Amino acid sequence: MMKTKLDLGIPHSDLASCVSCGLCLPHCPTYRVTQEESASPRGRIALMKHAADTGFIDEEFVEFMDACIQCRGCETACPAGVEFGSMMETTREALATQTSYQRWWRRVGYRTLGWPNFLAFGSRVLSVLQLVRVLPKKLGLPQIPLVQRKLLSSGNDVFLFTGCIMDAWMRETHRAVQRVVEATGNGVQFPSKAAACCGALHVHAGLGDEARRLAQRTMAAFPGEAPILVDSAGCGAQLKSYGHLLETKEAKQFAERVLDVHEWLADHINELPQKPEKSGRVAVQDPCHLRHVQKSHQSVYEVLGRYIEAVPLDDEGLCCGAGGAYSAFHPDTAADVRDRKLASIERTGAPVVASANPGCLLHLRSAGLEVRHPLEIVDSLIAKDV
Ligand code: SF4
Ligand code: SF4
Repeated sequence: MMKTKLDLGIPHSDLASCVSCGLCLPHCPTYRVTQEESASPRGRIALMKHAADTGFIDEEFVEFMDACIQCRGCETACPAGVEFGSMMETTREALATQTSYQRWWRRVGYRTLGWPNFLAFGSRVLSVLQLVRVLPKKLGLPQIPLVQRKLLSSGNDVFLFTGCIMDAWMRETHRAVQRVVEATGNGVQFPSKAAACCGALHVHAGLGDEARRLAQRTMAAFPGEAPILVDSAGCGAQLKSYGHLLETKEAKQFAERVLDVHEWLADHINELPQKPEKSGRVAVQDPCHLRHVQKSHQSVYEVLGRYIEAVPLDDEGLCCGAGGAYSAFHPDTAADVRDRKLASIERTGAPVVASANPGCLLHLRSAGLEVRHPLEIVDSLIAKDV
């Protein structure tokens, strides 16, 4: 096997924090589907240690690092407090900056996420392809509108972050979220186009410089002190990590203003309209970046539970396989991982699934399930005449 030089850049003390107990293994989706030690958190850390000790890596190292979904289920399970997510991000950045890990065409693809006009144009092309029915349904794309209605601010109590692909493909979800927040009596404002993308996918891909550039741009689009609400678990986790990413006082202050929208609504639960009775059941999928990273998934149950029976899955928050761009680059593993999630959902017997992350929502929808954002469900139940 060909050896490549790599300066991993992870402190030895971090690598040594893993005591190889293996308690994370049942919580790792890639280990669960492959049963390979190197596809487990413990195995990946052993490969990182070897790379740090020798200063060299091979194709096997790249393969197993690239196959990690970065779900961070291992962090929640680890009794030793190993910060696996941070180690994986450092590893990916070392690979992206020192090797040919990220090809030019992927870098260009990631870069376009920060160009809203380009994204809008590309989305219109997809919309036309949908209208002439040449896009396969199994892609699980939402119906992309040919013409987008602008989001209009209704006050300045809170900001709502809109993001890149979610805003281009699922703007109606933002509109539903806006209506639910407004139902508490608060006004919602939207950022300028400078907040085009949070940079989460760039961090996952190891493109740290691009992520830091996007973070600076995003921060400038939210003047003042109003809370910044986020209706995508992955974007919320990324905005909350800006202090760590940029290591500046401003970034830390910015991150403190960020809340997942369900967190904020749970704090304003008594201001939401009441209904005389609950309406049916919904299975709740906990996105990894809400459960394992933001650790705020319970607020989804609290908000949904005011209107409908919110049924948790029995898989302890195992990843669904979406993983940002993961399902596009590793479709087979992503589908194998998803099969376990589908079985958990089926055991609930609920007809609809709620997911607070657009990537998970689309990945599950591509398996034929009816999946909706929790606040789209709440919005329609508030509007319902009962
Ligand atoms: S982040 Fe997820 S996929 Fe990666 S090692 Fe941890 S549990 Fe496994
Ligand atoms: S990452 Fe944590 S849970 Fe997994 S083997 Fe190491 S110490 Fe044990």
